[in-house]
Amino acid sequence: MLIVRKYGGTSVGSRARIEAVARQVVELHGAGHAVAVVVSAMGDTTDRLLDLARELDAEPDARELDALLATGEMVSAALLALALRRLGQAARSWNALQLPIETSGRPGRARIERIDVTGLREDLALGVVPVVAGFQGRAANGDLTTIGRGGSDTTAVALAAALGAGECQILTDVDGVYTTDPRMEPRARRLERISFEEMLELAGQGSRVLHLRSVECAARHGVRLRVLSSFAPGPGTLICAEEDTMEAPLVSGIAFNRDEAAITVADVPDRPGTAHALLAPLAAAGIELDMIVVNAPRGGRVDLTFTVHRDDYQAALGLARTAAAGCGPARVEGDAGVAKLAVVGSGMRSHAGVAATLFATLAAQGINIRLVSTSEIKISVLVGEADLERAVRALHAAFALGESAPA
Ligand code: ASP
Ligand code: MG
Repeated sequence: MLIVRKYGGTSVGSRARIEAVARQVVELHGAGHAVAVVVSAMGDTTDRLLDLARELDAEPDARELDALLATGEMVSAALLALALRRLGQAARSWNALQLPIETSGRPGRARIERIDVTGLREDLALGVVPVVAGFQGRAANGDLTTIGRGGSDTTAVALAAALGAGECQILTDVDGVYTTDPRMEPRARRLERISFEEMLELAGQGSRVLHLRSVECAARHGVRLRVLSSFAPGPGTLICAEEDTMEAPLVSGIAFNRDEAAITVADVPDRPGTAHALLAPLAAAGIELDMIVVNAPRGGRVDLTFTVHRDDYQAALGLARTAAAGCGPARVEGDAGVAKLAVVGSGMRSHAGVAATLFATLAAQGINIRLVSTSEIKISVLVGEADLERAVRALHAAFALGESAPA
């Protein structure tokens, strides 16, 4: 099988770790697989380079910043190629200009358009392990670009798509995707498989295993993606199309997020245009809304509640107050002490009852639900932050997530 393997910054964080990675790659190659490797910059190199640039100039020129940041990945690619060669394994490093990896869009947030894999195919045919610098690209004018923080995952997936690889393996410091954060619930279990859509819903809620764009890219191109630990051997978690997951589980996992704040504009006139008048200034200020609920009108007045990222809370509150003043006598109340949790599972598409179990479980715990929103495979609720841990653990038990799935 042709495998694209990506090692993150921690996995290549020192000379000794690069040597350990080289041994793993040799082993994989020796097991009969063709292997192409994608690497991130060593440890916190990217942050250090950013700091250096900002010490020189608080707002560094975007082109030069990309030229600088791209060097981090080139260093680790060349070092890994050297380490492989020391072990007697033919290897060659590649950067984005050499391949090239063509990108479009703005510096710092470029998008990969095309990867020329001619050179890589030649390497692979000769048993040479190509080591590709992640996170970078080449603009149409020949400039080096970078594709956004954490972007090496996306480089690996795009490369796997371009090569038609059997699997794209992301090696990181966790050994897979869990039913929920094990720091919150020690009974959390590693998932064998999860669908792209479930992964996007879980990650979108704040689970930080993979760069979201890489999952979107994998879904679009049908790349089988596997998360593995670079420190502990194991099967990891396979992220694949829903058709390839056996029986869709009712609930696959519980995500949560403490970064929300709720704002309620109470007693606004119930007439067309009110929501627009209240929310347009927030959109204009670039503040993203997450959950939005309008309650049933009484006496010609309604309450509108929405959530924003906690960083935007004060700004959003101010804008909402100004906008509400223009809508007659309305009250604005805010609460930053809230948290969101979401139960996610493809099985919800075909089975009812998840919402009922969720509400019954939280009721039994005496936990008040502030807001609810749903999608086809997800139910999200907003609760008081103080209730979050109890809610997650109770739901984890209620949906039997801690027990291993039947074979
Ligand atoms: N080195 C880059 C960063 O730290 C890209 C990556 O690690 O994926 O954001
Ligand atoms: Mg990094």
